[in-house]
Amino acid sequence: MHVSVDRAKCDNHGQCTFSAPTVFRLDDKGVLQFDENPDDSLRADVDEAADVCPMQAILVTD
Ligand code: SF4
Repeated sequence: MHVSVDRAKCDNHGQCTFSAPTVFRLDDKGVLQFDENPDDSLRADVDEAADVCPMQAILVTD
């Protein structure tokens, strides 16, 4: 699975970090960091993160 985030859309408020905390996190400056190639076992959590993202900034592909 491949994950990308549109930085122009992302507001860095971190809703995605609650759905998939091992993939998305806010760094100590409050900027979103994420794993671009998480294990496929995390797909449900990553899909949920994409669903809850209020900016529709997360794109998940195979
Ligand atoms: S939920 Fe979306 S807008 Fe919010 S931090 Fe995550 S990727 Fe950015």
